[in-house]
Amino acid sequence: MAALELRHLGGDSYVIPGVVSLGLWGPVGGTVLFDAGGDESSGRALRRLLESTGRKLSWIACTHFHADHVGGCSYLKKATGCAVAIPEMERPFLEEPLYEPAFLWGASPFSALRNKFLMAPACKVDLGLSGSGLWEGTGLKVVHLGGHSPGMVGYVTPDQVAYVGDALFGQDMIERHGLLFVADVADWLVTLDYLENLEARWFVPCHSTPVEDPTSLVQATRRHLLDISDRVKTLCRTPSTRDDILGGLMEWLGKRMDPIRYVLNLGALSAHLTYLVERGEVEPLEDRGRLLWSSL
Ligand SMILES: [Zn+2]
Repeated sequence: MAALELRHLGGDSYVIPGVVSLGLWGPVGGTVLFDAGGDESSGRALRRLLESTGRKLSWIACTHFHADHVGGCSYLKKATGCAVAIPEMERPFLEEPLYEPAFLWGASPFSALRNKFLMAPACKVDLGLSGSGLWEGTGLKVVHLGGHSPGMVGYVTPDQVAYVGDALFGQDMIERHGLLFVADVADWLVTLDYLENLEARWFVPCHSTPVEDPTSLVQATRRHLLDISDRVKTLCRTPSTRDDILGGLMEWLGKRMDPIRYVLNLGALSAHLTYLVERGEVEPLEDRGRLLWSSL
């Protein structure tokens, strides 16, 4: 893996640009990393960066459990003795890697789902974070940013830099993905309203570059969620199975899927169906052993 670099944002707050951009904060003697990259090689590259800057790693503060964010935790914890924090409700996913593909597939996952994209190395969690508020003893503020994953959090440093995980996406990433992974559409919309009003000097999303004004990212992410829900509702005018709706959605987006993309997209579609059912816009109908989704 290529050498990582630190980009200064203000005070003791930095971003480490990459495929998944990570955050770093704190004095050299007690550094906090926000997320740890996708695998052991990310962990090794982060360790080299910490050593080259004379930093001692105290904590890895994870925004959420997805493997591309926590894959480096196990290596870094063993190599540096640091502690690991994650939202309490997502703790089991980091301690038992099989849960992520099992959660997406709904049963013991077949072999194409058992790889580093869905399974980070298991890592013991030292602290489960619950709710928003000050993280005592660190100076960091924890903010609940649920939606993309059930318990996702962001971290705001005393320098007013907000590390927001996967709560914000730019238009380029949205177009590349076609369908963003989402666990709870309604929660994500609440999170976007919250971020629109959050006072911070910098907003650092993991899949986009840091911005001082999050408005365009908030708007792009919100528009995507609402556009997809709208399209799902349209597809439900003809009562259809979940797989048929997904096929219609992929055709509309012009995207193909491998098994990993399929379970991620099926999960995202399920979140949109839940959103529409709870709003009274779609209903599930049993029909000869199939569950059809129909617009109301
Ligand atoms: Zn994610």
